[in-house]
Amino acid sequence: MAAGLVTPVTGDRLALSWQWSEFYPACNALYEQIQRISLAHFWHVAPAWRVFQSDAERERFFQRWWSEEGKLEMGQQGIALEPMSEEQLQPFHAPGGGFSMWPAGRLDTRAYLDATAKYFRSRNRWFPIHLDLEQDLKFTPDDVRVQRLGLQSRMMVLCQGISARTNHWFHALPLHPARGDILELASDTLIPAVAHHAAWVVPLQATNEANDQPRRGRILLGATYDRNCLDTSIEHPNALGFRRELLQRWNSMMALADGRLGLDDTLTSESSDSESSHRRDRFEGEVLAHVAAVRPASYDRHPLIGPHPTQPNLFCLNGLGSKGSLMAPHLANLLLDCMLENQKIESQLHWRRRDESSRRSHDSKRREST
Ligand SMILES: Cc1cc2nc3c(=O)[nH]c(=O)nc-3n(C[C@H](O)[C@H](O)[C@H](O)COP(=O)(O)OP(=O)(O)OC[C@H]3O[C@@H](n4cnc5c(N)ncnc54)[C@H](O)[C@@H]3O)c2cc1C
Repeated sequence: MAAGLVTPVTGDRLALSWQWSEFYPACNALYEQIQRISLAHFWHVAPAWRVFQSDAERERFFQRWWSEEGKLEMGQQGIALEPMSEEQLQPFHAPGGGFSMWPAGRLDTRAYLDATAKYFRSRNRWFPIHLDLEQDLKFTPDDVRVQRLGLQSRMMVLCQGISARTNHWFHALPLHPARGDILELASDTLIPAVAHHAAWVVPLQATNEANDQPRRGRILLGATYDRNCLDTSIEHPNALGFRRELLQRWNSMMALADGRLGLDDTLTSESSDSESSHRRDRFEGEVLAHVAAVRPASYDRHPLIGPHPTQPNLFCLNGLGSKGSLMAPHLANLLLDCMLENQKIESQLHWRRRDESSRRSHDSKRREST
């Protein structure tokens, strides 16, 4: 359900996305290649907009990226940033302006997963099954076997997201997950580009659309970030709060711009039954869908990959957090280099980096005390 956004400059600090120059070329190449093989269209590269949220943010942009050094650094990374005026950022409320960034990508994750599933199904290599990882894996010195599927392989990679906690193999991964909610809205407002504002908004395209024209009407709006509620049900008592939060952000992005009523004006009652909440959500469009999932984030926000400590033919690829679409392809390449060519995983990607660094600091403390 992820929006699949791939964005070069992110966060309050307007920082360049971590290791962009490694991650972006790998994801761009992989998605283009899979599009060619599958004849499906799910990878959209186009400028994305960012609307300044404060004077301080605007100033940061001009100091950091509109200086000679900033422009040079962007040029070296193959990134183009251009200031945008309030008029250019229509229909958004953008009194301080903003900027556009290129390249920015959006992976239509559902269409991508459908295309890859179809590919593997056509080769009889697609096994949709829930494995009991305590029981189903059998290891010999040379291979891993999944008897239930009649499969045997030299090595195996577990890419389980937050479910890594449910079995003993990689339950020690330092995951620090966060729930995220996304709304799909029907709106009359034409959104010309993916935009990062009080929330991000994505104009939806039909997957079979040949040209890259945004389709009027359906948009994705997201996402919340919550570490306390990891239940992904949209019936959960907190879900209505997440939905309201997103609609309020939508109002602050749009309503002030053209004088329409904001959500606060319509939220007079605290009643939470679904019928009245549905009515309230229809303030200027319709909530077509509300979805939620948990991001498998790590404590330091870096990925978690590498071999199992005692089972050398078992590996994990996890900790993708909010950036799975950007990071997964390059991480998969690095993991393959480790599996097939015995290359070392650099410590900032290795899932046991915390053990390593605490071991090192423990060793140095011991040395100091002796
Ligand atoms: C609201 C929201 C918005 C997001 N937006 C973006 C975005 O714009 N851009 C971006 O790059 N990322 C985004 N993400 C993050 C993205 O979803 C994650 O980075 C990505 O899904 C992580 O992929 P994964 O395969 O590691 O884990 P998951 O997507 O969690 O997949 C793990 C899979 O393993 C399966 N599994 C687990 N255990 C077993 C078992 N025993 N047997 C069989 N199957 C099993 C699970 O069913 C699941 O399908 C967003 C996430 C959320 C929640």
